[in-house]
Amino acid sequence: MATDVAALCERASELCHALAPIDLADMPVYVLPQSRLPADLGGAAICDGFTQDTLDLYLRDVIGAGWRGRGPCMVIRDAAFAGCAEPRAIELTFLAIAIHELAHVLERDQPFRDRSDLTSEAIQQQALANGRQVASEPSQAQRDQPWIYHNARFSRVAIHLRHRAGLLGVPVSAALLCAGPAYGLSPASEYVKALGDEPARLLGDSFRTIRQSQVPDPFFRLWTADVAAWLDQHPVPKEAA
Ligand SMILES: [Zn+2]
Repeated sequence: MATDVAALCERASELCHALAPIDLADMPVYVLPQSRLPADLGGAAICDGFTQDTLDLYLRDVIGAGWRGRGPCMVIRDAAFAGCAEPRAIELTFLAIAIHELAHVLERDQPFRDRSDLTSEAIQQQALANGRQVASEPSQAQRDQPWIYHNARFSRVAIHLRHRAGLLGVPVSAALLCAGPAYGLSPASEYVKALGDEPARLLGDSFRTIRQSQVPDPFFRLWTADVAAWLDQHPVPKEAA
């Protein structure tokens, strides 16, 4: 069955606003299917989705007539759903990737970065560098510390978003969003348990407030124990003395 990718992108953008109404307020959230990107600007990406604090400027030509000023931007690999015939499964997987990318947006101090200091040539160069990066295999740093871009701060935001999405009729497994063996960490369900009732207690708060509030002790202890255990089992060779 054909899937209306444009409608899925629209749905994902609306969901982002519903999940973080204070932080995103009236700024646009650009959700783009990877199939619309030129190969050198992310069309050759090998991940399910990606975002970056300047991505809206990198992909401004792709956004085209939809441009409504600066705002967070994410790309979702729609080719991943080509063989899937079940519309609800496609929708939930698509939205799960969008929620993961939104967690990256909201773990930052600002949803996007002011780049008014850069020339359009500099933006273009960075856009190409970003396109190369998302098309590359994981870096040595990611292999040494698999959680490096998906740390405790990220997981906390992701688990809050998952809680809110569930209340809005978008049930997403935490394992699809954060933690687990792919990041060298305990299963996401352990992080959900360790965060306790915080997502319910802070339901009406902004993610800025959540980021600034002290993380619950069990969550912090789980994270530090995971990192310590990984580093213990995967010592980094000391070749660069
Ligand atoms: Zn990620």
